[in-house]
Amino acid sequence: DYTFKAIECGMAFEAILLASILARQFRVAQIDKRIAEKYARTDPLTELNNRRGFKELTQPIFEHIVANQREVTIVIIDIDNFKNVNDIYGHSMGDIVLKSVADAITDSCRQGDISARWGGEEFIVFLAETSEAQGLMQAEKIRRKIEAIKIDDIHTQLSLTASFGISGTVNGCFNQATLDAQSMDNMLRNADKALYIAKQNGKNQVKIFC
Ligand code: GH3
Ligand code: MG
Ligand code: MG
Repeated sequence: DYTFKAIECGMAFEAILLASILARQFRVAQIDKRIAEKYARTDPLTELNNRRGFKELTQPIFEHIVANQREVTIVIIDIDNFKNVNDIYGHSMGDIVLKSVADAITDSCRQGDISARWGGEEFIVFLAETSEAQGLMQAEKIRRKIEAIKIDDIHTQLSLTASFGISGTVNGCFNQATLDAQSMDNMLRNADKALYIAKQNGKNQVKIFC
């Protein structure tokens, strides 16, 4: 009888042990999944959103803005002469500069602004509830913050600046028409064209598409 009971207790203990191991494995798998999901949307170098993260975050906000005819502005930022940093100081210093610029953008952003690394040495900021004129001031703030970055080795030879292209709404309208679902793509295109003008005009400046 005692042997039988001992076997029963052993089996119950084993079952509890197995259940707790399975529960732990499940929790670890859940955490791994969340980390993988986060990194699918995050740029590992700068820790900003990547393109995918940016699009997923901004799309529902943009839809809300369109539905309610609110203001919105997009800012595209491109580091000036960044290739020189890599060529003169090496790729790892280039990475340090990218991270510093990303931090400067994050520091200058207000709550609700959504920033991302758009690619290479380009960044983007989505400014909800912000007209083009207000966006211009916000972009100027970021530009000054980048200009003020101090990286000892670099400042001995190079100035670190960025050019900005912006496009957004004026009195709730975009291109003198009401906002619609396509406006976001057009705004991105216009901001890119404005950035091109900023580069042509001598860099380290903010340009509005017009
Ligand atoms: P411009 O003022 O006209 O923008 O000139 P630029 O030199 O900034 O632009 P260009 O497109 O000629 O060079 C961009 C460089 O950015 C080239 C590429 O090697 C570098 N780059 C892109 N991604 C990374 C990265 O993740 N790390 C580093 N270190 N460099 C990168
Ligand atoms: Mg570029
Ligand atoms: Mg550049």
